[in-house]
Amino acid sequence: LSGDEEHLSPVEKEIEKALRPLSFGDFTGQQKVVDNIKIFVQAARKRAEPLDHVLLHGPPGLGKTTLSHIIANEMNTNIKITSGPVLDKPGDLAGLLTNLEEGDVLFIDEIHRLNAVVEEYLYSAMEDYRIDIMLDSGPNARSVQISLNPFTLIGATTRSGLLTSPLRARFGINARLEYYDAELLQQIIKRSAGILNTPLVEDAAYEISRRSRGTPRIANMLLRRTRDFAQIKGDGTINKEIAEFALNALDVDEHGLDEMDNRILSTIIEKFKGGPVGLGTIATAVGEEADTIEEVYEPFLIQEGYMKRTARGRQVTELAYKHLGIVPPSRTG
Ligand code: ADP
Repeated sequence: LSGDEEHLSPVEKEIEKALRPLSFGDFTGQQKVVDNIKIFVQAARKRAEPLDHVLLHGPPGLGKTTLSHIIANEMNTNIKITSGPVLDKPGDLAGLLTNLEEGDVLFIDEIHRLNAVVEEYLYSAMEDYRIDIMLDSGPNARSVQISLNPFTLIGATTRSGLLTSPLRARFGINARLEYYDAELLQQIIKRSAGILNTPLVEDAAYEISRRSRGTPRIANMLLRRTRDFAQIKGDGTINKEIAEFALNALDVDEHGLDEMDNRILSTIIEKFKGGPVGLGTIATAVGEEADTIEEVYEPFLIQEGYMKRTARGRQVTELAYKHLGIVPPSRTG
């Protein structure tokens, strides 16, 4: 249920694109971050300079890519998109950089996954808008300096802790996106329903938004799925009854936890006495990648108070027992 864009069909990708806000005015929430970036954009435009490099961090689906597109739109420039794991060789990066026009945005998703050699090249590109390329090897080896058009790098990461400090230091603007509250998600869903021409009743919008793990991408995905249920099981209108039916059919529980969230909590309780237990052990037991648990599931479970991180591993809280209807073991026993 992650709503991951990579796994979407072409039609769904089109819909995703249609729902993506294109200007600051369409972008709901993250008020502080947006207000600051607006100022930086205006100031850069006034000086006719590219915007300083921007690092955006936070869990997936909160709007990092969207915000990067908006920044490029508002700066009136193009955006080129790539990701850390794709930039395998320095040549890949050099190719992208030398093709940038003045003021363009280069967006690198998952920037914490850049390899060390490519990252090295990025330093001088970010700092001085130049790269040194090695030509030939052995006795003929020589390095050529190529100057680049001034550009803005926007890096996105779900794990800012994994960024090296030299890289982090080269971003002049650093912003953290937070989970959205239900009210903001409700506004986002209503806007999306409007674009999709789907009638959406107020309390249904609330129901979907409070069960979307604080994440716009999930909110939009649940909206599209409830729309399917409304068209097949109802008269096309998403009302509360249809929304509840659909959410239950999709294994999204009363508190918005999905099947994997619940599996993580019940596994820690049933197999590991509630923890503490190491991340790798949990990952093996639930059959999910440790990275995914750490980047996608855990931040929300921790924020909502279902589990915590201790020095000896992950531990569920009493709320998790209560949520699953399991009696917690007595502390004194
Ligand atoms: P990230 O890059 O952080 O993983 P995205 O920018 O791809 O997240 O956002 C996922 C989807 O959620 C986008 O397609 C967009 O439609 C929607 N979205 C994200 N943030 C907002 C927002 N603040 N307002 C409206 N829609 C949003």
